[in-house]
Amino acid sequence: TDFHSLGLARPILLALDGADYSTPTPIQAQSIPLVLEGRDLLGIAQTGTGKTAAFSLPMIDRLLATNIRPSPRGTRGLVLAPTRELADQIAKNIRKYAAKARMHVNVVIGGVPIGRQIRMMSRGLDILVATPGRLLDLYDRQALHFDDLEFFVLDEADQMMDLGFIHALKRIAALLPKERQSLFFSATMPKEIADLAASFLTDPAQVAV
Ligand code: AMP
Repeated sequence: TDFHSLGLARPILLALDGADYSTPTPIQAQSIPLVLEGRDLLGIAQTGTGKTAAFSLPMIDRLLATNIRPSPRGTRGLVLAPTRELADQIAKNIRKYAAKARMHVNVVIGGVPIGRQIRMMSRGLDILVATPGRLLDLYDRQALHFDDLEFFVLDEADQMMDLGFIHALKRIAALLPKERQSLFFSATMPKEIADLAASFLTDPAQVAV
């Protein structure tokens, strides 16, 4: 498929064949090579453009390449989403794309009992998808840490702002290790979101669709 020319690792290409993805969408074609080079990324894109795969596929690739084992309560990849529904949807897609890659993927969202999530985190994960409030709740209970974090994605920043997550996000930005790769997506980019993006990103490449 056309995905082969983007440089993704073999287990990912196999999963894409299984998912019947033949051609990258424009945001995927623009983003994937930049992320595989190790760049931070500022993406202006709406839902429905294939944005989830645009960040998930190269994230899985980068985590496969380093292949570090997460420590208890750690996660190597972190994706933040504004709502429970979106977090579940992203996790479902990541599991599909990582199906041939032997990765531990899980999701923590608010509004459900926390005990199970605390136990789930104890072994450590390759990729965690989370809503910001529950993530910080788990951090404050010392059920998770960011020491193993290699790759960070913030999705739907404008919706995050609308839902009042700005303080949670600023706190998370300060907790993450400096040495990491970060991607930041929003459908719109007013100044307050550009400022928030700047607090997460280092010399980002920019893509817009
Ligand atoms: P998203 O914008 O990430 O919510 O994706 C929108 C929909 O497009 C989802 O159902 C994806 O499974 C699907 N999709 C994403 N990328 C591709 C692709 N390259 N080929 C076919 N379907 C895709």
